[in-house]
Amino acid sequence: MTTPKVILPGGTLGVLGGGQLGRMLALEARRSGYRIATFTDEPKGCPAGQVADFEFNAPYDDEAELIRFLNQVDVVTAEFENIPDACLRFVEERKVLRPGHRAIYTAQHREREKLFLREQGIACADFRIVQSLAELEAAIAELGRPSVIKTAAFGYDGKGQCKVNADTDLATAWTAFEGHHAVVEQWVPFVCEISVVGARSANGRMATHGVVENEHAHHILDVTIAPARVEPDLIDQALELWEAVAIGLDYVGTMAVEMFVTSDGRVLVNEIAPRPHNSGHHTIDACITNQFQQQMRAVCGLPLGDPTQHTPAVMVNLLGDEWSGETTPPDWSTVLNHPRAHLHLYGKATARPKRKMGHFTVLGDSADEALEHAREIQRQLRN
Ligand code: AMP
Repeated sequence: MTTPKVILPGGTLGVLGGGQLGRMLALEARRSGYRIATFTDEPKGCPAGQVADFEFNAPYDDEAELIRFLNQVDVVTAEFENIPDACLRFVEERKVLRPGHRAIYTAQHREREKLFLREQGIACADFRIVQSLAELEAAIAELGRPSVIKTAAFGYDGKGQCKVNADTDLATAWTAFEGHHAVVEQWVPFVCEISVVGARSANGRMATHGVVENEHAHHILDVTIAPARVEPDLIDQALELWEAVAIGLDYVGTMAVEMFVTSDGRVLVNEIAPRPHNSGHHTIDACITNQFQQQMRAVCGLPLGDPTQHTPAVMVNLLGDEWSGETTPPDWSTVLNHPRAHLHLYGKATARPKRKMGHFTVLGDSADEALEHAREIQRQLRN
């Protein structure tokens, strides 16, 4: 692998993964004159592939196809973390991968992520790693109820999770995790959920978009309110935690850290996303430099842009549940008729319940005003 140089417009950015985060990165990078090559195990015409210059569709262990992809690109990034480890290693041995293998490898697996947080002394919910029913019973005895069991691998949006309440039978709960590593976490009676999205450049400079407030519905992000309506002390804690994670992972690129705010005024890290994040989508319309432009800049070895949010904003996710059947979208007129709303659709041909199909962002004079308009548009879309 040769020492990375600055990759200027005209160069080609390789993206592992073909989803909406890759699509928004591609749109941003193409705007600045870069070319984009995506590599995904999904069929042709995926959200990122639709707007890329080159689309590679093959399994992540197809070395011949990976070589063809790598020959086409100057630098590689990933738009989702669940890329098989062997693929990440194969890529990093041959090209500059940003963020690097260690950061993605750590954040793609809850057990490694939690152990990293503990090792770095970064505040998070108390947890135990368990591999058997006996270990689960011991963990619950120590952590108490409620607690939550989470699969160590491939969990997101609340998938692979089981809350252990006062009356939960542990033997029954364990059947879903049998044969796997799981993380048992103390339940955090949070007052709100927040996140920080920011970027770290190849020379270690950091810039965040500030702290945002996240409301979930059925474990999936529903609304992001930016900026978060929380006390300055909590903002400081959240920004410090983000920086500690970024430095600890020697991170290069855009990264999100999701956090809980507790009733006694503490901020705890919940999850690290080693990529641009759903709770940073408002940055496209509300920040001087958005999270995808920052990703492009960091990955290409350029200095970061000014991340400042210029206008309060609220982002609302559009899930497949809003569609009638698989192909009929809701009537967009309420979004399109609003002068301060921006519609973003991801080019997914078929809608399924819980599938992220797009989002819209509403700008306002205050976060509260933007939220009021956003909720009204959301209500009308559902009518
Ligand atoms: P995760 O997939 O870990 O991000 O969890 C999805 C959602 O489940 C979080 O956004 C929280 O709303 C909830 N959750 C997860 N872990 C905990 C916890 N330890 N205490 C309270 N709520 C949690």
